[in-house]
Amino acid sequence: MISERIATSIGSLESTTRSRALLAAEDVWFAYYNAETLRGVNLRLAPGEIASLVGPNGSGKTTLLKVLSGILIPQRGRVTLDDTDLRRLSRRAIAQRIAVVPQEMHVPFTFTAEEIVSMGRTPHVRSWWGAGRADREVVQRVMAATHTESLAQRPFNELSGGEQQRVVIAMALAQEPRVLLLDEPTVHLDINHQIEIMELLVRLNRKEGLTVLATMHDLNMAALYFDRLIMLKEGRIVAEGTPEEAIHADNIRLVFNADVQVHVHPTRRRPQILVLPLVS
Ligand code: ADP
Repeated sequence: MISERIATSIGSLESTTRSRALLAAEDVWFAYYNAETLRGVNLRLAPGEIASLVGPNGSGKTTLLKVLSGILIPQRGRVTLDDTDLRRLSRRAIAQRIAVVPQEMHVPFTFTAEEIVSMGRTPHVRSWWGAGRADREVVQRVMAATHTESLAQRPFNELSGGEQQRVVIAMALAQEPRVLLLDEPTVHLDINHQIEIMELLVRLNRKEGLTVLATMHDLNMAALYFDRLIMLKEGRIVAEGTPEEAIHADNIRLVFNADVQVHVHPTRRRPQILVLPLVS
């Protein structure tokens, strides 16, 4: 039963993603020293998609994001951006098209929020002093889109977790990327700020056509806001498809070793899981 369902989701994935890929991993294998972490990952992100990478701790989600953004080079297989092997592109060329929002950003000095966002222009300007009016306009535009204008002159390190996350997303958007990769963008945020970030990502996807791939721990948030879920276990994609295709109690048991019930969201018709406690 489990393997049938998984096969079904993978089957539907293959038929839907044969269309043009913006970013693709082709039989990607990656090991840290001898520890095999990604084992033959095939993933195609079509332009304008919004998808989430889910899986247990240590399943390889962060590693896959790093491989997809060219930070790590796979030992086998390849990653392509618009059909060009990432290895043939300079860091600057990649950064003009792919932006990454890491799990945590440590800023050692007291930069203001606006200065942090301006750093996102680096791949487009010849030198730090070369930033011109067009660059400043981009910074203003992305700060408006992320509702961070009121934070512009505040020191980044003094902002709340939710505010910092919006500023870091604004910095990534200042790169004017076509693909935004985010590593657990809501992980340290309270529910209100989680919703704010998720709604922002969906808005950027729908209004600006930005292609979005985010790793997520919260399966309910992922199922509610993303159109496609990709489940990773031990460095392999074991299930994927629409939230309805991917979120099944038996998939969750197989991938996360957890017993849950799956219900349908009352207004959005998306699957939502309920935890079944073992203690009474
Ligand atoms: P996830 O994001 O799903 O939690 P990661 O990609 O962070 O998974 O990690 C996958 C595996 O790779 C884990 O076993 C982790 O310990 C290992 N790993 C991650 N980063 C490194 C590193 N820099 N050096 C060695 N091993 C690493």
